[in-house]
Amino acid sequence: MVFVVDAEQRPLGPCHPARARKLLTAGKAAVWRRYPFAILLKRKVPDAAPASLHLQIDPGSKVTGLALASRWEPSSKMCSACGWYDADLTLSDRVFVCRNPARIECGLVLDRDLNAAINLRTLAGSSSESRNACGVGSADRGGELR
Ligand SMILES: [Zn+2]
Repeated sequence: MVFVVDAEQRPLGPCHPARARKLLTAGKAAVWRRYPFAILLKRKVPDAAPASLHLQIDPGSKVTGLALASRWEPSSKMCSACGWYDADLTLSDRVFVCRNPARIECGLVLDRDLNAAINLRTLAGSSSESRNACGVGSADRGGELR
């Protein structure tokens, strides 16, 4: 699914990736955002109104849980063990290495994505507004809803 906006950045209904590719190749659209992937049509669509969407949650979330986080959540740059923030970590750094000067003994070395996943899991469990996507009786929460 590819999100679509018109030339005035008004949301339209999403389209299939193959259709988006055709529009991009024909020069009728441009990439607007990469995450989530969205294209910008180069023309206005008068009276455009997006249809309602029915979103489904991956069945794997019954095991992994589900976290909604701000796009600015520093999940990759924060040590999942001690909370130290690595401002110098770049996208090309695939391994997180904790260099917390206040807690040298931490020294966590972990795959960047795994470190981010642990931070998001912690975030999901710490928020008073968090909800397990699967509700009561899911595997990880022992039926507890916060
Ligand atoms: Zn650390």
